[in-house]
Amino acid sequence: MIGKLPSDARPWPERRDAGLANATMRETLGLVTRRFSTGKRRVFLEDPAQDQARRAGVQAKRAAIADLDRLIAQFSSAVEAHGGVVRRAATAEEAVEAVKAIARQHQVQVVVKSKSMLTEEIQLNHGLEAAGIRVLETDLGEYIIQRAHETPSHILAPAAHKNRAQIRSLFETDAAEAGLRPPPSDAAETLTQYARERLRREFLEAGMGVTGANFGVAETGTVVLVTNEGNADLVASLPRVLVTVMGIEKLVARWEDLTLLIQQPAMNGIGQRLSAYTTLISGPAASAAEGPAAWYVVLVDNGRSRLRQTVFEDVLSCIRCGACLNVCPVFRQVGGHAYGSVYSGPIGVVETPLLTDFQVGAELPSVACTMCHACQEACPMDIRLAEHIVRLRQEKVRRRLNPPSLTASYHWWSRLWSTPEGYRRSLRLARAVQGLYRRQGRLVNAPGLARGWFQTRDMPPVAKETFLEWWARHRGGAS
Ligand code: SF4
Repeated sequence: MIGKLPSDARPWPERRDAGLANATMRETLGLVTRRFSTGKRRVFLEDPAQDQARRAGVQAKRAAIADLDRLIAQFSSAVEAHGGVVRRAATAEEAVEAVKAIARQHQVQVVVKSKSMLTEEIQLNHGLEAAGIRVLETDLGEYIIQRAHETPSHILAPAAHKNRAQIRSLFETDAAEAGLRPPPSDAAETLTQYARERLRREFLEAGMGVTGANFGVAETGTVVLVTNEGNADLVASLPRVLVTVMGIEKLVARWEDLTLLIQQPAMNGIGQRLSAYTTLISGPAASAAEGPAAWYVVLVDNGRSRLRQTVFEDVLSCIRCGACLNVCPVFRQVGGHAYGSVYSGPIGVVETPLLTDFQVGAELPSVACTMCHACQEACPMDIRLAEHIVRLRQEKVRRRLNPPSLTASYHWWSRLWSTPEGYRRSLRLARAVQGLYRRQGRLVNAPGLARGWFQTRDMPPVAKETFLEWWARHRGGAS
């Protein structure tokens, strides 16, 4: 079954240029991603043994993906044995319908949510709001972007593109609407305090809480959340109904596997030894005073099964740590929104076209990667991101998804550079005409078919004397 992901209809050059023109976003994103990457280096230097656990965790996750059908059955039985209810959803629409049906059944009018990329992927908020249900994000970053009517720009830090002045301004509008006192300054503590007070009231009003899941343990039927704000605990404990929306790939077989993996999202994503809160959910509460009376788990596929038993299967091991985003030179410049869908950075470049069978993000492997391989080195789950990007480029050629002008350009380029003479002549020609296409010391355009290549890139001009020419001159040979 082909997955469905939200998409931005604007073409890549437009999305990319909007990102490049947003100086505030580039500054804040640069600070955040550098801080995260430095923190990651520090924690692994402090505790090198963690890398052994990580490698064992990779093996455990690969084994779980290979055995997914059995684990799904085992997990479902265990959840139901504890009094929970499992719903399977093959598509995004089925998942949204399942959550809506649960809300209707329990006459829910207000839903509080903790951070979940999967619910962004299936556009759950839109679905619930269209059904007349008010949805409130309670993760600070998600709350900020919900107020801004935007989507997350980073898997871990959804509002990483906003600075404190922008957040304060959003909260001032929010306070005026809610009849509250606005935050008195843009200090981080003040803004957090405002959100905390604003959201506490909503927790008490909400009839249903919705969370995602970082892991699911098949042998015990346990859902595991790792968070830093404590909001997920309130979402999972205060409303009378709890719904966990979870991708099928989140399962691991055993409790021991979880212990290998549980530190990895925080260590690799933000350079923290362990997330501040680890929440384990194993069933509805025994009494109303202790938590939700009903617990549902919606297990979502939405294109994930198509990756199984293919060369791309390792993509399903992703733990959404964001480490590949933090080191990606393209992501750091254009920001998450330029990718035009919910998953950005290198994992988005790979996963978006794969889940949707190239319906969304087909352009990304060609335009949003410099082939620096930094993502592949950073990925704690050893996902072959850079190699997959090359494979996806090959797949685009096979499916004839590239513009004809690009295909023709590569064809002629390859023919020209197949002989030494063709290569030399093309350099001489480029040197003769490149003055027409220079801007600030870079080549930014070219005539004819090569023009398409420059739509997304620039390059240094051809040197006055190439190494081969210099070599020929010194050796007395012909250039
Ligand atoms: S692909 Fe790897 S680095 Fe990127 S988010 Fe997933 S696990 Fe983290």
